[in-house]
Amino acid sequence: VLDEFSLIKQYFERPSTQSAKANPQLVKGIGDDCAILNVPQGCQLVFSIDTLVEGVHFPVDAKPEDIAWRLLGAAVSDLAAMGATPNHFTLALTLPELSNIWLKSFSENLAQAADHYQITLVGGDTTKGPLTLSVQVQGFVETGKALLRNGAQVDDVICVTGSLGDSRAGLSLLTSQEDSDIHRYLRKRFYRPQARVSTGLLINQYASACIDISDGLLADLGHILVSSDKGACIDSQVIPLSREIKAVAGDDALDWALTGGEDFELCFTVSATKWSLLQQALADTKHLVAISKIGTIKAESGIEIYKDAKWQSIAARGFNHFSS
Ligand code: ADP
Ligand code: MG
Repeated sequence: VLDEFSLIKQYFERPSTQSAKANPQLVKGIGDDCAILNVPQGCQLVFSIDTLVEGVHFPVDAKPEDIAWRLLGAAVSDLAAMGATPNHFTLALTLPELSNIWLKSFSENLAQAADHYQITLVGGDTTKGPLTLSVQVQGFVETGKALLRNGAQVDDVICVTGSLGDSRAGLSLLTSQEDSDIHRYLRKRFYRPQARVSTGLLINQYASACIDISDGLLADLGHILVSSDKGACIDSQVIPLSREIKAVAGDDALDWALTGGEDFELCFTVSATKWSLLQQALADTKHLVAISKIGTIKAESGIEIYKDAKWQSIAARGFNHFSS
């Protein structure tokens, strides 16, 4: 029979040969009271925790494979936003029941996602209750080199990765039965966000501030602005929108791109000089993730947006769990 301990052994302990690459920092993984990891010389430990609650962050009937990818993608995204290299994570699982089918699919996909991000599961906690999943991810950054929110300077260029609003559009289609390429793409953007780890590492030497977009562009750019004590001008015409969001959302596409959360793209600022160096580096390394310049940092607080042929002030809106 499956109990807490056989569950951990069966589904979460992986022989080190089975993971994509052995983790050289790992001294002790799953199986003791604590995991033990070495921090490489000259590096700092960077860490963050993220929780997904059934019915709040994903629908009740969500597939375990999707939950696994979303869980790790969202958590690793915070490391990406710091310009850090993911290294290891712990998992706190609260399950309403022990289902072999659910656990097999969840753990296999979690292992695939972990290999994808080159991050090792080193421990966790298993309890009974309403389905809730927390992961604490940890990574390394060269001492003093983490990308913070508070470094934006006047006249810096504001950039975003990928395209915005797709996750919000995907959320609106979760219950849609339609299986067109467009609907599949958008649902996948919701369930399988790609943490922009390689972009975070590349921009680390160029960017002055960075955040990942979890609550919507306006809200998260707003966090950079408040931390840096600056404001911003952005041009709505150059906000990157996918072909797919335009096809399903029409006039809502821009609104979803500005306020829809959970795209897990990066928003960062870079000085005009470093912006041209960064563009060169992106070309030289054949970087695959698109980077769009959407505006500039200004001294006066607030966000001005160019829309409908005029500049307008706009409130930093986004998703807030406790707002009424
Ligand atoms: P303790 O009671 O000392 O906290 P547990 O009995 O909860 O330890 O866990 C035993 C071992 O299994 C520990 O190494 C713990 O990190 C690991 N573990 C527990 N649950 C999980 C999980 N869901 N995923 C990965 N490792 C887990
Ligand atoms: Mg113990």
